[in-house]
Amino acid sequence: MSFYPVGQFPAYRPRRLRQSPVWRALVRETQLEVARLILPLFVRPGRKVRRPIAAMPGVFQLSPDELVREATRAHELGVPAVLLFGIPATKDARASGAYAANGIVQQAVGRLKKELPQLLIITDVCLCEYMDHGHCGVVRRNQSGAKVANDPTLKLLARAAASHVQAGADMVAPSDMMDGRVCAIRAELDRLGFTETPILSYAAKFASAFYGPFREAAESAPKFGDRRTYQMDPANAREALREVALDIQEGADLVMVKPALAYLDILYRVKAEFGYPTAAYAVSAEYAMVKAAAAKGWIDERAVMMESLLAMRRAGADLLITYAATEVARWLKEG
Ligand SMILES: [Zn+2]
Repeated sequence: MSFYPVGQFPAYRPRRLRQSPVWRALVRETQLEVARLILPLFVRPGRKVRRPIAAMPGVFQLSPDELVREATRAHELGVPAVLLFGIPATKDARASGAYAANGIVQQAVGRLKKELPQLLIITDVCLCEYMDHGHCGVVRRNQSGAKVANDPTLKLLARAAASHVQAGADMVAPSDMMDGRVCAIRAELDRLGFTETPILSYAAKFASAFYGPFREAAESAPKFGDRRTYQMDPANAREALREVALDIQEGADLVMVKPALAYLDILYRVKAEFGYPTAAYAVSAEYAMVKAAAAKGWIDERAVMMESLLAMRRAGADLLITYAATEVARWLKEG
């Protein structure tokens, strides 16, 4: 049922405007543009390292020199931004690598800023890659077992975010799903004078099986338990809206829905409800599924990848975070 008048057959024939590519382009509602793409990259210590990730063909853990090469390739094709994840040499129970001034992400940011000053650098802010237990927060143990403690984690997240910005990051993206993290990070950035640095919050991040291949990529699988006490239940849409509302109230400038393709309804509702700049994160398994089926010759990789991203745009995403950003940029250029 529509709220506006719609023509009726035979006076109205929708096929009239589908007659040719020119007509279709003229009335197309949604565009997939290179300016919307963000490429996630994994950086690890070393030189000339390109360690492939088994379930993500074409994606590597890169040493800073190789990271610059990969980012340059994307940037030359018009990709405006990268999202950095760090894999530190050592992990501990305080995630000290996450906020070390010479941590792997901080080094990589400095390097990228120097070589590609026009490229926007977004850093993922979380502790899981830096914690020996692999959880996104500080773990406290008592008689009833181990728990991820919310408030003690906030301080560390704020420290990590500040260290990224001090290294030159243009934007920080907290992905931990602790309550109050955006508020803590905003306060710390402002205290240090970084009032102009935006926050992209992973506002509605679901505890999803679609992250499987990423765990290998970021070496961040939890050693015990799972992330269901902080990431969202995939069954909940209304709660996702509350999570987004909270992050906006705490000072998020942009909000993210993760994963993307299986959560288009969330994306749609978030955009419709809040109208904030909204990012969709097409996660590792979304990428892996397309790559695997294409490798078998079962689907047209380019067409499926492009259609999936277009669907995210149509659902309300302004920004698209995808491991295929460089390829997609090339396809868009080829036309
Ligand atoms: Zn994490």
